[in-house]
Amino acid sequence: MRVAFLGLGIMGQAMATNLVKAGHEVTLWNRSAGKQVEGARAAASPAEAALGAEVVWMAVSDTAAVENVLFGPDGVGSSLTEGMIVVDSSTISPSATRKFAERVAHKGAQYVDSPMTGSKVAAESGTLLFIVGGEEQTIERLKPLYAAMGKKIFRMGEVGKGQSAKLVMNLQIALIYEGFAEALTLAAKLGVEAEKLIPLVNASMVKSGVVEYKAPFVLGRDFSANFPLRLMRKDIRLALDAAKEVRVKLPALETVEEVYEMAIEDGHADLDYAATLLLLEKWAGVEVKGQAA
Ligand code: NAP
Repeated sequence: MRVAFLGLGIMGQAMATNLVKAGHEVTLWNRSAGKQVEGARAAASPAEAALGAEVVWMAVSDTAAVENVLFGPDGVGSSLTEGMIVVDSSTISPSATRKFAERVAHKGAQYVDSPMTGSKVAAESGTLLFIVGGEEQTIERLKPLYAAMGKKIFRMGEVGKGQSAKLVMNLQIALIYEGFAEALTLAAKLGVEAEKLIPLVNASMVKSGVVEYKAPFVLGRDFSANFPLRLMRKDIRLALDAAKEVRVKLPALETVEEVYEMAIEDGHADLDYAATLLLLEKWAGVEVKGQAA
């Protein structure tokens, strides 16, 4: 298929690479110059990339970035044509998503929100899970592209519901990891070694995919970004905003948001979200020790 891929960050770079490998005709655009994928054509603007494409696929930071790419100067908007499909794999606001879809529909194009779960590693290995909102027939047409980048798609309903489901997934990831980080910090202070605690966690009902994935990085003191802390903070805020819109109170997430704020004040924005542990350690005056991952 002819695909315009917009946004070559941690995720987009790997996703676009897999589209090229699967034989799709990919035109790329990224806000800052210099990012490339072998076998793909580079465009000077989102509008140029989208010209003649069957599908425009976005993986950019946040709601403002998606709005800019779609409707900003030289945005996709001026190149939209009847039957084109716009897919957004960024994690953004569900209510803004519905508005973007309406604007895209005025040009006869379809919109599918398609945020993803899985990290940089899943993006590289083409094993992402896509959490999708949109018309079934439109999603059907996208199947060859999903197959190139992911292992499964979960359709949650109409446009916007993919984003809603993604936010409640990340709400859980943030809280589960924070529970793990607080447990490690208290354990260290009480003299229980992380390397002894983690096998116990994994053998019990406390076991979780989040802990299994993050534990080796934490033990190896590798806080480089798989999923940057600043982006998890964005998702926490998106979940809190969505909750406010429907008058739901999320006290645990509100507290964790404050931890993220302080971690960012401490300079950890571009580290992995696992680096909230560094703040807990600082407060406790302790360091969680482990072997290299
Ligand atoms: P990233 O590495 O920070 O890349 C962000 C991308 O967005 C870059 O290409 C950046 O361009 C672009 N961008 C930012 N602001 C923009 C703007 N105003 N206009 C146009 N482009 C803009 O992020 P990522 O990790 O690839 O994540 C992309 C999306 O996927 C995010 O919504 C994130 O929440 C979601 N996600 C990430 C993961 C993960 O593990 N990393 C997992 C699931 C979902 P520049 O190169 O110019 O900065």
